[in-house]
Amino acid sequence: MKTKLTLVGLFVSSLVLAGAPMRPDKDNLVDFALPIVGTDSAFELSNGNLYPAISLPWGAHTWSPQTAGNDTGWFYVYGHHKIHGFRQTHQPSPWIGDYGQFSMMPGVDIKNPTDGGRASWFSHKTETAKPHYYSVYLADYDVTVELAPTCDAAILRLTYPETDKADFVVDAFGGGSITSIDEKKGVVEGWGRNRNFFVMAVDHPFVSARVEGVLGILRFPKLKKGEQVNVRVASSFVSLDQARVNLRQVQGKDFDAVAAAGRKAWNEALGRVAIETEDVDRARMFYTCLYRAMLFPRRHFDTDANGKPVHRSPHNNEVTAGRYYGGTGFWDTFRSLFPLLNCLYPEMNKEMTEGLTNCYKEGGWLPEWSAPGFRGCMIGNNSASVVADAFLTGAAKGEDAATLWEAVVHGANNSHPRITSQGRAAVKEYIKYGYVPRDVINESTARTLEYAYDDWCILMFGRMLGRPASELDVYARRCQNWRNVFNKDVGLACGRKKDGTWDPKFNPYRWGGDFTEGNSLHYTWSVFHDIAGLIDAMGGAQAFNDRLDSVFSLPPVFDATPYGGVIHEIREMQIMGFGQYAHGNQPIQHMPYLYDWSGEPWKTQKWVNEIMRRLYHPTPDGYCGDEDNGQTSAWYVWGSLGMYPVCPGSGEYALGAPQLASATLTLGPNKLTIKAVLADGSPMKDVDATPYVQRVTLNGQTVDRNYVTRAELVKGGTLSFTMGPKPNLTRGTTAAAAPYSFSREKK
Ligand code: CA
Repeated sequence: MKTKLTLVGLFVSSLVLAGAPMRPDKDNLVDFALPIVGTDSAFELSNGNLYPAISLPWGAHTWSPQTAGNDTGWFYVYGHHKIHGFRQTHQPSPWIGDYGQFSMMPGVDIKNPTDGGRASWFSHKTETAKPHYYSVYLADYDVTVELAPTCDAAILRLTYPETDKADFVVDAFGGGSITSIDEKKGVVEGWGRNRNFFVMAVDHPFVSARVEGVLGILRFPKLKKGEQVNVRVASSFVSLDQARVNLRQVQGKDFDAVAAAGRKAWNEALGRVAIETEDVDRARMFYTCLYRAMLFPRRHFDTDANGKPVHRSPHNNEVTAGRYYGGTGFWDTFRSLFPLLNCLYPEMNKEMTEGLTNCYKEGGWLPEWSAPGFRGCMIGNNSASVVADAFLTGAAKGEDAATLWEAVVHGANNSHPRITSQGRAAVKEYIKYGYVPRDVINESTARTLEYAYDDWCILMFGRMLGRPASELDVYARRCQNWRNVFNKDVGLACGRKKDGTWDPKFNPYRWGGDFTEGNSLHYTWSVFHDIAGLIDAMGGAQAFNDRLDSVFSLPPVFDATPYGGVIHEIREMQIMGFGQYAHGNQPIQHMPYLYDWSGEPWKTQKWVNEIMRRLYHPTPDGYCGDEDNGQTSAWYVWGSLGMYPVCPGSGEYALGAPQLASATLTLGPNKLTIKAVLADGSPMKDVDATPYVQRVTLNGQTVDRNYVTRAELVKGGTLSFTMGPKPNLTRGTTAAAAPYSFSREKK
C-alpha cells in the first residue's frame, strides 16, 4: 500500500533545495498530519481503529464524520459510502465506546431523520480531512459541510443549494435529550449521552422546528444557491451555563478565522519537532503520528467564566475546581506515549498529573483505564509508571507529590472491590507468594510482570521523594518478583500455581490464559527495569539474543484456545510477516530495543527500520493493529528520532537508529538537533539503504553506550549518528554500553 506520492502539492508547503532533504515548512506542518490514516478497520482486523479526529491538540471535544449507525464503535470506516452525521465524540477506542456524544446533519427535505434514514452518499474525492479542518460534499442533498474546531466548540459552515426545504437535524443519541429550541434566535440546547450539555447557535432563524424523541428537526427559510449557514456549537460536561461560556470561543468569529486559529495551534504543537527527510511518506507518517500522540488523554475540564479550570467529577458527579484528564488506557500508553509527552510537552504532563491527583482525591484510586471514569479493561497498575516518569523527568513537581505518593502506594497494595483493572487484582496473593498464582486469577503471569515493574517505579519515585528505606525496601524486593514466574526449564515466563508448580501444558504460542493479549514469547520481555537480570536468567547474552532472534524467525503459529477464537491481535501478528513479533499490540513493542543490553545493537537498528518501513504507511490501512490512544504512534515518533523509552522512570532512552536526515526538538529553552549523516558528513538520503549506526556523538563527544539520558538531551546541542549500509559489529557491544538495569545498580 505504500505509495510514492507526487511532490507537486508539497512544493507549495515545503522548502526544497537541490541536493538537500525536504524540510516541511513550520507553517504547513499540519498538512502532513493525515487524520484519515488508520480509518480502514473492522471488528476482526484493525488497521488502526481510528476515526478522523478533528480537534485541537488535547481538545476537550473532538469532531468526526460518521459513516455508520449511532451504536457501533466503528462509526467511521474508510470503505463506507454514506455519511450519517457529524458527531461530537470522545471515544478512546471502539472497544471502550463513546461517551457524551451527539451529532448534526444537514440535508434537503429529509424525509427520515434517523441516523440511518438521513445518510447521504459521499466520495473521498470530495473529502478534505485535516486535524483543524474537515469538509465533504453530501451528494444526496447537494450540500457542502465544513467544520473547524476550538477546544470546547466548533463552527459548521453549510453551503446549501437553492431551496425552501433546507433541513438540519440534531441527534442527541439515546440517553440524550433536546431541551429547548428557540426558533427566532436559531438556538438549540440539550445534552448528549452522559449529560454532555450542548448549545447550538445558528445564524439563520428556523421556519419550523420539531422534536421527535432525541432528534431535533429544523428547517431554514428559503435559501439562495450557495447561501451559507453557520452553526456555532459548544458543549460541557459541567453544565448548560458552562456550555454557553464555551460558545464564546466561536461567537463573533467567522469560520475562516476559527480554522486559521486551529491551523496555527497545530503548527505550533507539531513544530516542537522540525524534521528534514527525502521521503515525503516518512514526513507524513511522522506528523500523522505526532498528531495522534496529542489527542489523548483529553481535557475533561472547562475554563469557567472567571478563567479558572473546573470539571464535573466522573467519580462523585460533583462540579469541582481544577483539571481532570480522561480517555486513555495506561496499560497501552505508559510505555512510550507518556514518556514522549514528558520529553516534548512537559507542560501538558504537569496538567495531566494535576488531573491524576484530582482523580485520586475524588475516586479513591488512580485510573488504569479511564473513559473518563474508571473502566474495567486490561491489567496492571501502570499508573505508577505514569506518575514516576512525570516526576523523574521533571515534568511534574511540587505539592502533588505527597498525594500521588499516597496514591501509588494505595494502588500497589489494594484490590478494587469490583474493577479488577483498578489497583492490583490478587494483590494479597502477589504479596504472599511473590507472584500472582494461576489458580487464583487469569492473566496471572502478565500481572506479576507488570506489578514487579510498577513496584520498581514506586521505588524510583520514593527515592526521588527521599522516602525512608523502611518504606522502600519492600518495593526493592518486590520489583524482583518477575524472577518467580521465570521458568528456567523453558527459559520463558510461565504460569505458576500457589503450590509452586508450573503450567504443565505450557505452550509458548498460547495467547491469553496466563498472559494478556499475547503469549509467553511476547510477555517474557516485560522486565523493563532489569533486562540485565533477565539476560542472566536466560543463561547469558548468547541465549538471550537467540531467543530475541527466534521471535522474528519463528512462524506465526498460535493457540487461541483461552479466547475461544482468534482475537484481532492474533490475526494482526499472523499476517504481518514478522513471525511471532506482534507489533500490533503493546506487550512486545519495546522488545526490538533489547539488543542494546545484550551486545548486538545493530539488530535493534535493523528491526526498528524494518518495522517502520513495513508496518506504518500514510494510508487508510496504515497501522498494523489498534493505534491505542497515541501509544503505537508515539512508538513511531521515538523510532524516527533514533531512540525509545524502554524503561519509563529510568530517565534513559535506548538508542535505535534515526530514520530522518534531521530532527530538531524544542526542549524547554533549548534545542536539540538529531542528525543522521553518511560517512562523508553529508545528510543521510535513504535510511533503508543505510540503516546501521556506525558512530554516535553528542555535542562532538563520542557516545559508546547504547542510550542517552533525558538530562543530557535537555541541555540541547547536536546528537549525531553516522549511518552506513553495514552493521558496525564493535560499537556498543560491551556490558558497560547497556542501558539501566536494576540488578546492575551500584550498591
Ligand atoms: Ca492494544
